[in-house]
Amino acid sequence: MGEVLIEVKDLKKYFQTPTGVLHAVDGLTFKLEKGKTLGVVGESGCGKSTTGRAILRLHEPTSGEILFEGKDVVHASPKEMKHLRTEMQMIFQDPYASLNPRKTVSQLIAEPLILHKVYKKKADQDARILELMKLVGLSERLVNTYPHELDGGRRQRIGIARALAMNPKFIVCDEPVSALDVSIQAQILNLLKDLQEELGLTYMFITHDLSVVNCFSDEIIVMYLGQVVEHASAEDLFEHPMHPYTKALLSAIPIPSLKGKKDRILLKGEITSPIDPKPGCRFALRCEYAQEKCFQEDPALTEYTDSHFCACHFCDQPK
Ligand code: SF4
Repeated sequence: MGEVLIEVKDLKKYFQTPTGVLHAVDGLTFKLEKGKTLGVVGESGCGKSTTGRAILRLHEPTSGEILFEGKDVVHASPKEMKHLRTEMQMIFQDPYASLNPRKTVSQLIAEPLILHKVYKKKADQDARILELMKLVGLSERLVNTYPHELDGGRRQRIGIARALAMNPKFIVCDEPVSALDVSIQAQILNLLKDLQEELGLTYMFITHDLSVVNCFSDEIIVMYLGQVVEHASAEDLFEHPMHPYTKALLSAIPIPSLKGKKDRILLKGEITSPIDPKPGCRFALRCEYAQEKCFQEDPALTEYTDSHFCACHFCDQPK
């Protein structure tokens, strides 16, 4: 394994609700090497966005460890956290919602530079803004335009420029293309890939869409109701999926094939409540292979083949 940038151990984030405790993230563990991309996939409400926010402490973790270059993020002081936030950034799903509509492109990109008091001279700051605009493919002539005058792709480029302003090492990309037209999605994905190569960035790429994450990730984590159900290299996960939930997600990807349409696995059954969940596999009510044991014991995330982990009592048995 190469140099580890970020290590997460047994991360939990619970929320108190009027009806009980919501287990949004329930025991997440992984290591991420410098310059690599970890894809985090799952349906809406599986805890993937909460995971990204908890790692950056935009949500305070309930328990667990987060080490960034060996530094303890969970117990970092406000001053240490201010510095860590320059190294760990986030790109949001909806660029329009995350940008102040009353500010111009240059004012929006300037915000992190002003917050961290990077430049004393305005001319230096303006030069950096133009440099960032160029880096993300925004034309200089857009410097005084407002977000509502731009299309979704350009707005997302502003979000990326803001995230890059402080020269971060790690970026959580939270569904960065899901609000964009299909034609623009590829442009933004290519931009993120180019920036990764150019700047040596490390990404956590959160998405509900396995087809997006496949071409982008080195490793993939599949989450279901706050827990990791499968973790493998992107190649291995696509070639040899083990968990019934991963197989269902993969079957939903439209792949044009001359051999005809592949069978889609339709998930039926109730979704288990993530509020005060009972022991047992959280996928059991929707799993066609569920047996008695599945309703009684939590399946542990277990390494079955080299660096391929799965949390299912029966995933090594032929189906
Ligand atoms: Fe299905 Fe049981 Fe495996 Fe859960 S542990 S995925 S219910 S077979």
